[in-house]
Amino acid sequence: MLISIVAPCFNEEEVLDRFHERLQNVAEELLPLGHDMEFVYVDDGSRDRTLTVLERLAALDARVRYVSFSRNFGKEAALLAGLRHASGDSVVVMDADLQHPPDLIRPMAELREKGFDQVIARRTRTGDGRTRTLLARLYYRLVNRVVDVELVDGVGDFRMMSRRVVDAVLDLTEYNRFSKGLFAWVGYPATTFSYENAAREAGRTSWSLRGLLNYGLDGLLSFNNRPLRAALYLGMGLLLVAGLYTGWIVAAALVNGVQTPGYVTIITVVTALAGVQMVMLGVIGEYTGRIYYEVKRRPHFLVKASNVDRTKNLIP
Ligand code: UDP
Ligand code: MG
Repeated sequence: MLISIVAPCFNEEEVLDRFHERLQNVAEELLPLGHDMEFVYVDDGSRDRTLTVLERLAALDARVRYVSFSRNFGKEAALLAGLRHASGDSVVVMDADLQHPPDLIRPMAELREKGFDQVIARRTRTGDGRTRTLLARLYYRLVNRVVDVELVDGVGDFRMMSRRVVDAVLDLTEYNRFSKGLFAWVGYPATTFSYENAAREAGRTSWSLRGLLNYGLDGLLSFNNRPLRAALYLGMGLLLVAGLYTGWIVAAALVNGVQTPGYVTIITVVTALAGVQMVMLGVIGEYTGRIYYEVKRRPHFLVKASNVDRTKNLIP
């Protein structure tokens, strides 16, 4: 059985050598158990010498395939490219920064052999800030109310997948990719195990608070149209309240005569309604924006250099 390791790399020159070395050790361990390995590294338009390192690794190790993007297209695009270039019967998706321990690949392979199509690693939140942990908890609570697929706190991309899962994911050609959700959407028998979270070995995380916020919104919006429905219900509720209130005002005017004061009421209602309308427009806009990106049908990434012939999926 061939196991492909897919790792997106963005400015990872400092860890790549160590990462590959650890994987080689795992490959050595797995060889007697009947598993071959290949390594698919995707350089996501790094601004450091990641590509040079990858070229060197490929020259030294024939099992290394690399793809280098023309610019930074984002981790999701890099993952997609990696999956497209992986030819294994099982594919492991993992980060290159050693936050996903390579030692877990062996237990993953064992679980895969028991018949699970997806073996999912779930990280604990040790070492994460208190606020970040709390926010994440709240977020997953909220999101699972809304989204059709189940998203689990601590479950990310780190997992081993069977060929049929990978093929199914590759069939999902959408432009806005939210892998966590896509993997969950595909389904098939899956099992989850926990591992202790590790700090980054070197380099820096490329996530800003804003990036995380946007990612969170993507998770909410990419999998259903429930926010649109919520906007609809909110609008109907407001309409009902407005109707009742109007009835009450007219009745009061009929009984007591017209009383001009009401400045505060009017301003409050006008601003509140304007706010609500803006939020609804925003929700609609989000979906329209997504449609806009989808209909353009642009490629997810452009390749600048690679040692893989994509048409045959072979090293030339
Ligand atoms: N990554 C990428 N493109 C990007 C950002 C990140 O390919 O634009 C890769 C990065 O090299 C790493 C993985 O995605 O292998 C996870 O990134 P990072 O460690 O910055 O995220 P975190 O672990 O903090 O969630
Ligand atoms: Mg990381």
